[in-house]
Order: sequence, then structure tokens, then C-alpha cells
Amino acid sequence: MSQNAWIKLALLANGISLAPEFITWFGGTDGYVRRRNFYNSPNWGPTDAPAPPQELRLSGERSVTVAVNDYGQTRWQLTWSEETGPVVVSDLLPEGQPVELVTDLSTLHSDAEIARVSNLYGGSALAFFSPRACYFFAEGTGCRFCSLDGTARENGEFAGRLTYDEVRNAVATVIAGDRKAINQVMIVGGNERDLDRGFRNQLKLVHAASDALVEAGLTDQVSVHLVAMPPRDLDIIDALGEIPNVHAGFDLEAWDPERFAAIAPGKHADYGQKSILTALERLRDVVGPYRAHSILIAGLEPAKSTLAGAQKLAAEGISPIINAYHSDRHSALGLSIRPTYRHLAEVASGLQELHDAFPIQPYWKGCGRNAMDFEASHGMFRGAVPQYS
Ligand code: SF4
Repeated sequence: MSQNAWIKLALLANGISLAPEFITWFGGTDGYVRRRNFYNSPNWGPTDAPAPPQELRLSGERSVTVAVNDYGQTRWQLTWSEETGPVVVSDLLPEGQPVELVTDLSTLHSDAEIARVSNLYGGSALAFFSPRACYFFAEGTGCRFCSLDGTARENGEFAGRLTYDEVRNAVATVIAGDRKAINQVMIVGGNERDLDRGFRNQLKLVHAASDALVEAGLTDQVSVHLVAMPPRDLDIIDALGEIPNVHAGFDLEAWDPERFAAIAPGKHADYGQKSILTALERLRDVVGPYRAHSILIAGLEPAKSTLAGAQKLAAEGISPIINAYHSDRHSALGLSIRPTYRHLAEVASGLQELHDAFPIQPYWKGCGRNAMDFEASHGMFRGAVPQYS
């Protein structure tokens, strides 16, 4: 079995630095996806440095997508030579691990308006982020891992709030130009004070994406994914039942109630963990078992706690999403905490057991650059944990 999934965990735990040889070679290329900071910024080098690749694909019998998060000092490096092409090297690997870079959508590359409103996430998700603001920051209760506020202030090249027409037009244009390049459309964003109004706005964008896919006859191949805060009026969720091939999620972030309150103080104060769970149950009933999702962030609480949450969700017919904590500039936590490879491997092994026991569906279909679900759904975390630390 390929070690790619484990190498992904090592890269997520330690980050990856870019060798000068790679930077020079990459600077002369055109058409590969470069990092675009819609809502987060996980690279701690100089802010005027050329944008690195957004993701890598570890090549092999099953390629694995992983984020390029550069936290500085690390034993993992992305380099390049004439002989090898782009390759990940480490003193912990017997030989360099070949990687592929992600080719950008031709429409995103050539159409500034489409690039202003959307992004290619993980190589196969057309991603929309709206609104590019969250009222928790105005109230000093932003999630402590979240860098949306500072990222949006630093970078104003992307749309702050999207309309039905912008999303529908972008989806239609992208699938006309790159019909086979995407397998999902993602709608995600910050939150409005009026959670019901905010959720209704997100529903309009979900409809926009779905309407474009219906028109193109692609609803079987391309799913529509929404992550949002749940509305206060749970009846509003029922409208998602009209959307074909939809997945949706309300994120818990941490399972332990005290960690939840500390990590997501706005969610704790304004909605509460128990209420999010109740909303998730309603969501599951509307979109179907295992099409409702919730993120638990690995690295912000003990591995056993993350796994206890994942187990409970899976037993309830809700697919957990396990994302490794990524340290973003502008977030309150930043680099003050980093999960180790051992920690992520413990979570991944436990997650594998859950995937073997329940029909969990990954939220990201191969494009979850910081997540471990797709790899677990393909059994890639079975067996002994390699020594990558
Ligand atoms: S709910 Fe939390 S994670 Fe989501 S945008 Fe607001 S602060 Fe960020």
C-alpha cells in the first residue's frame, strides 16, 4: 500500500518549505494553481514572496492531495531538478517522493471576473466564499483558528459578497470551458448576525450552483456542498431537500465542550454545541444519512476526544470531517499550537476504524487538502504507522 496518506499527515503536521531550485523553476511556469488567499493564509514567509503552489498531488497508485502550508523550519522540502521534476524530500524518506502540481482551470486563468468570485480548491472543487466577513470578529469572538478577518483586510482582490447571478454564471462558464475538471461545487463563507437571513442567502447560492449544473446535465457527476452556521429556525434547512446531489455541514470544530467554548467562543455564546448537534440531526434528515457533515479539527484537543466526536457523529448518520489544524497568519492561535505527526496518525488510525465500520462519505472528493477523510475512505490508513517523525 502506498505511503502517500501518511506522508500527507507528515506534511500537514510539519508544513513544507520551498527550495530555491523549486521557486526558480515554478516562477518560470504558467498554468499551475498558485496560492490565492480567499479566507486563509498558511504561509509564513515574506508576504511579498511569489505565491507558492496551493496544493500538491503526491503521485502513486492513488494520488493524494495535500496543502502547501509553509510554517518555516521543517524537515520536509519541495524541490526540483531536471532529472526528478518537482519532488518532496526529507531525511525521513528513503528517496524523494514525486509530486504533480495542479493545473488551473482555463477559465479561472483567463477570465478575471470568474477569478474574482471563485477558486479551484484541491484541484477539483469549484469554491465560492461568501460573505468574506463574519460578525464574530466584530464582537471579538471569532474562532481562534480562523484567519478570515485579517486575510480579507490584507487582500481585497476577491468579491466580498456573491449574488445568485455571479455564482450561476461562474459555474456555467467553468463547466463550459473545463467540463471534466471539477467534481464538486463548494459554497462556504462567514456569518451574518441574523443567522436565518445568512442561511437563506447561502441557500440562494446553492440554488445558483445547482441550477447551472441541472442546465448542463451534470448533477450526477458534480455535487453541491454547503458549509454554514445553522439557522435559528431549523425549518429553513428543509429547502436543501430540493437540491439534487447535495452535501451540507455545520461545523463543531472541537468535541470536548470546554475546548469547543475556548476554540469557537462565538459559536459557543450564540448557538451552543448541543444546538449545533440538534441542527445536524435535522440536516441529516433533510439531505440523507452521511450527506450531513461536521468538521472536527485534529490537533486542537486530545486525539481521543476528536475520535469520540467522530464516533458519535458517525453513529448518528452524520459524516465527520477531520481536518488537521493549519496555522494561519492572522489567526489568534497561529503557530502557538501545532499537531505532531504522531497525533495526526493516531487520529487517522482511529478514523480508519470508523470508516471501516460506517458508510461515512468524505466531504471532499479527493480535494480535501487538509483533511484525512478521503484517504480513510480508501483504506489508506490501515496497518502500521510509518516513522515519519
Ligand atoms: S464561524 Fe468561525 S470559522 Fe467560520 S468564519 Fe466565523 S470565525 Fe471563521
